[in-house]
Amino acid sequence: MALGGPVICLAGGVGGSRLAHGLAQVLAPGQLTVIVNTADDFRHYGLRVCPDLDTVMYNLAGLADPQRGWGLRDDSGNMLRALRRLGEEGWFQLGDQDLATQVLRSHWLERGLRLTEVTARLAAALGVEQTLLPMCDEPVATMVQTRGGGELDFQTWFVRERWQPPVRSLRLAGIGRARMTAEVGDALAGATLVLLAPSNPWLSILPILAVPGLRAALRQAAAPVVAVTPVIRGAALKGPAARLMADFGLAPAAATVCGLYGDILDAFVYDERDAVPPPAGLRLLGADTVMDNEDARARLAREILDWTATWRPPAVPEREES
Ligand code: GDP
Ligand code: CA
Repeated sequence: MALGGPVICLAGGVGGSRLAHGLAQVLAPGQLTVIVNTADDFRHYGLRVCPDLDTVMYNLAGLADPQRGWGLRDDSGNMLRALRRLGEEGWFQLGDQDLATQVLRSHWLERGLRLTEVTARLAAALGVEQTLLPMCDEPVATMVQTRGGGELDFQTWFVRERWQPPVRSLRLAGIGRARMTAEVGDALAGATLVLLAPSNPWLSILPILAVPGLRAALRQAAAPVVAVTPVIRGAALKGPAARLMADFGLAPAAATVCGLYGDILDAFVYDERDAVPPPAGLRLLGADTVMDNEDARARLAREILDWTATWRPPAVPEREES
């Protein structure tokens, strides 16, 4: 029963921000909290860069580049050009206005603010009315063990190497020192619905679920947990989700995503283009999950909210305590 109550969306970057933006269009601003992956954050020329937080923030602010889905619209590239003139490769795309976000975030973090507080300040300044929370305040970093090669930090593998090196395994450096924040705990405890956005499972959603305390908080929360597939007809719309499934010897399919989230899931939204729905045991909704424009985002968000609102509390499947 989601209508009217607080809705939480767990999100990564481009896929996650699409659903978050759809939800923002149909929910009252105070109703939506987005908890964002920070495991692909990195330090770049001394700055703390948070790609997924910024992607969600710029989309909710209506400032995102509409073609790429990330970065700021109409941004310029003077800094990158100047960096290259100084002999640097400049492989990480950072527009001039986007750079201001990184400078100010780094400045505030250096002055002792928590990432949660910094994010709230940046989002408010850009006019975001929804609540935007990083998954934790401590730095956590996805590290990529490549086949044949050594370990690459995530952005080197993803951007510089264009995610071509096959992956043996992934590791979340720093996750042992991370703690669920009070803000995330309160949000989950008060939620009436939790959505796992159509983000990359390994690179966006599983890092959030790996924050110590978070999975337990989700299990304890009264809210049903609903995931939206990031894989359609065995392929990702963008990025390495299906490739990673192949690398890990898993079927590149929506059902694989269900399996990865396991017992926290109550329901799953698969794409209607998929002939075979994922395995039973979950409430299932087949929908057009391609959110390639603003209307499609809002339409899918409304369809999911309407669907969950028809569930009467006793009919929500009991989750087994582990
Ligand atoms: P990143 O951090 O920018 O790589 O983005 P995410 O992890 O949030 O999202 C990447 C995933 O989003 C990919 O697996 C895409 O297939 C998926 N995705 C992107 N746009 C859409 C969409 O409109 N609908 C669905 N169902 N999935 C999408
Ligand atoms: Ca990302």
